[in-house]
Amino acid sequence: MKRQLSEENVQLRELKLTCMDNLLATSEARVYFKDLESRFLLVSAGCDATVPAGRVLEDLIGKTDFDFYSQEHAAAAFEDEQQIIRNGESILGKLERETFHDRADAWASTSKMALRNKRGQIIGTFGITRDVTAQIKAENALAYQVLHDPVTGLVNRFALMDRLKQALVAMERLPGRLAVLFVDLDHFKEINDSFGHDAGDQVLAEVGRRLSHFSRRADTVARLGGDEFVVLCTALRDDDDIALIATRFVEGVRDVYVREGRDLSVTCSVGIFVTSDPQADPDELIRGADEAMYEAKASGRNRHRVFDSSQHFSSSANRLKVDLSRAIDLGELFLLYQPLFSLEDKTLVGVEALVRWRHPERGVVPPDDFIPFAEQHGLIGRIDSFVLDEACRQLAEWIHRDGWPSGFTMAVNVSGRELAETGFAEIVGEAIRRHAIAPERICLEITETALVVGWGEIQETLAALSSLGVRIALDDFGTGYSSLAHLQRMKVDILKIDRSFVEQIGTSERDRAIVAAVTAMSHALGISVVGEGVETDHQLDTLTGLDCDQGQGFLLARPMSAEAVVALAG
Ligand code: C2E
Ligand code: CA
Ligand code: CA
Repeated sequence: MKRQLSEENVQLRELKLTCMDNLLATSEARVYFKDLESRFLLVSAGCDATVPAGRVLEDLIGKTDFDFYSQEHAAAAFEDEQQIIRNGESILGKLERETFHDRADAWASTSKMALRNKRGQIIGTFGITRDVTAQIKAENALAYQVLHDPVTGLVNRFALMDRLKQALVAMERLPGRLAVLFVDLDHFKEINDSFGHDAGDQVLAEVGRRLSHFSRRADTVARLGGDEFVVLCTALRDDDDIALIATRFVEGVRDVYVREGRDLSVTCSVGIFVTSDPQADPDELIRGADEAMYEAKASGRNRHRVFDSSQHFSSSANRLKVDLSRAIDLGELFLLYQPLFSLEDKTLVGVEALVRWRHPERGVVPPDDFIPFAEQHGLIGRIDSFVLDEACRQLAEWIHRDGWPSGFTMAVNVSGRELAETGFAEIVGEAIRRHAIAPERICLEITETALVVGWGEIQETLAALSSLGVRIALDDFGTGYSSLAHLQRMKVDILKIDRSFVEQIGTSERDRAIVAAVTAMSHALGISVVGEGVETDHQLDTLTGLDCDQGQGFLLARPMSAEAVVALAG
């Protein structure tokens, strides 16, 4: 009996060794074992691709990364491995740009863990690195689609607005002028109607090419949709004649287009809005150019019309700016709190702070009416700081009450624009210290769109916030372009499924399947999931059935005053 067992053991060991050999020989991934000094003990065939010319795979054995790769790469790998050896914790899915000889354009994902002997002592590390270049490229392609118009290849409205905002910010540092040219084709509908949509699309693509051809390198040419284009001309010099630039576009577009042997003639009307005010509202600029374009059309098409800020720039925007700025100082802003409940046992687990403006004449103004405006006019920082401080103060007061729900959290919305500012993490740290709040009680809600547009700028702030210990929620999930990759890249703790999804969940099988998949995946990554905008029992039951962790919505509770929260919690 004993003998038989040990024979089986031997067989099993051999089987394991054969499997390991096969894995090492065939895996496309790079698998490697290292000793306590980070010297290679065993490497898979996949590592061959990383070995510099003139050396072979076996040369790695007994050597460290320092003998083969860049100092930077080797030092980072060494540091990671020594950390694993010290604390035994694994590093999973670390995303890195490759720095090897011919792999400058490649991305890899690496997981490393401790290698232990039978007694559990750490004797080295085990690592596996996968090439994820294709995946990253696919994501970039997706980002490209989000920012471009498929018919003309020009940037779309979304990207244009972003560039316009950047141009205005640049004007703060370097005073100058910019012009927004709104280009609209005359009688385009007739082309579509008589020649079909394919011909229409070809004309649009050609117009896009001509506009690009006649613009300067720093300019942005965008298609807003339909037959509307916008050219953003930045850094105009004093002696740049805008009328001349516009004439160039009008002339450039007007000309014969040949389609299937027939001549089509296309003309356009251009409206121009010029400003030198860095505080100008981007939407107003587009609207101003649009209005000027209508004037051009009204006065006989195939021409242009120029408005400038002195003529037009709406005094209403300026007034709103002064009002809002004063509102912050005068304490006209206040917070309501919308409760969040655990779906498992329906207990109150926290609230989300939602800002309101008590306007002396207009009454209570909802955030959608002033937050976007504040973002465009440089006032959002002051608003977000106020909300953060007030929310922390209120939380500190609540949690000291007897019988207050344990683990109660406060969620605060943060504008993407704020995140891009350096120093935001310090403001947060300052607020939680001032009110002596445990960081994990604060959850900052960030929208997906902020991530897509400004990933580069906000990465650092996010890392600083993570190390502060505050939680991060991805807000309105499903409305932007949902790159699930963000979940892994930034340390998200909570995912808030947008109301529009929750709304469909009762009726759309597809949306239900998406929510089920997103929830399962989030849980695997240690992320908890909140369903937003729950309005019906059916939605509540479905979310609960899909293992969603928390719910928020009018069915459960509306945004309410601090006193009402106390009544609810008590
Ligand atoms: P949000 O972050 O998605 O906040 C949730 C919004 O959905 C709130 O609107 C809330 O009243 C509403 N809501 C919650 N449950 C339901 C429901 O069952 N049905 C319906 N129809 N609506 C529901 P609110 O307060 O008007 O806020 C709108 C947006 O304004 C927020 O969307 C957020 O993006 C922004 N916001 C609010 N407060 C702040 C703030 O302090 N700072 C910043 N930067 N943004 C804020
Ligand atoms: Ca929110
Ligand atoms: Ca939301």
